[in-house]
Amino acid sequence: MKNPVAAFAAFGILTLGSVAAAQDTAALPVTIVIHGGAGALAPGRYTPAKEAQFIAKLNEALDAGYAILEDGGAALDAVEAAIVTMEDSPLFNSGKGAVFTRDGKNELDASIMDGATLNAGAVTGVTTVKNPIRLAREVMENSVHVMFAGNGADKFAEQQGLEIVEPEYFYTEHRWKSYEEALKREKEQKDSAISHDFKYGTVGAVALDASGNLAAGTSTGGMTLKNFGRVGDTPIIGAGTFADNKSCAVSSTGHGEYFIRLTIARDICAQVEYAGKTVEDAAKDVIHGRLETLGGGGGVIVLGADGAFAMVFNTPGMFRGVKSASGVNTTAIYGD
Ligand code: ASP
Repeated sequence: MKNPVAAFAAFGILTLGSVAAAQDTAALPVTIVIHGGAGALAPGRYTPAKEAQFIAKLNEALDAGYAILEDGGAALDAVEAAIVTMEDSPLFNSGKGAVFTRDGKNELDASIMDGATLNAGAVTGVTTVKNPIRLAREVMENSVHVMFAGNGADKFAEQQGLEIVEPEYFYTEHRWKSYEEALKREKEQKDSAISHDFKYGTVGAVALDASGNLAAGTSTGGMTLKNFGRVGDTPIIGAGTFADNKSCAVSSTGHGEYFIRLTIARDICAQVEYAGKTVEDAAKDVIHGRLETLGGGGGVIVLGADGAFAMVFNTPGMFRGVKSASGVNTTAIYGD
């Protein structure tokens, strides 16, 4: 496998988010930050028309979440609304448009966490639930457990009356083509099985509401050619998702195996809570320090209890956006 650190170094250090770092903590601005996946997203990767589609969908997701916050709604509801918008879009690797497993199936993972209570819900290997993030929330709010897997998760969704779809619902032609290409590359031994396709589209959101509560959520189809039973970081609380009003809310995207081993989301919040770091410094330490040292690639969105935010990644790009009562309203794809 190509060393991702070397590959990403060529694109420099890419961060954004200091804009909000100096906000007045006495009047916290409601804020939502989203991502739509990190990876090999260099300028020229998409046509201007395709870029416009991505940006429009990111704005739609931001608006869906922000409208709730603006009305005095809960951070959890804003996170769920933003993620559902992206799950329903074939552009992203979550819900409709998820990548294919080695067996040619779509197996979805999601998690959500409430920073006020530290309650959390997660699902992995879901195959029939239209919006896995809604199921994660059901697990959090209407079960005594934190995580459901596979058939049990699908069954729980039915019991809770969530929208159920045929597995074919998740199919998209472009993901099927990527799957076939990945198989071909692997056969020709030009690439390692799982190294190349975490580039588009896991989705996530973090939000701060008018009551000062934080929430985080993440949803994905995982990585192309993932083996049967593989669980990535997305449904792992502390790796793919974490939220605590005492520190911050984080949603991750990238090569999940590294994010699990480094408990990336929790590590960032721990650095904020115990070491008094800013969300941006903590995120940089983890993404440009620990993750790169291990050879992993990806990014995070982080929102602090004080309203400061960071979007940090060591890949060439990350679909991302922020909308805040402080006046920030921005989306981006590449590391500019
Ligand atoms: N983190 C996801 C996983 O490993 C993939 C991604 O974020 O692109 O399943």
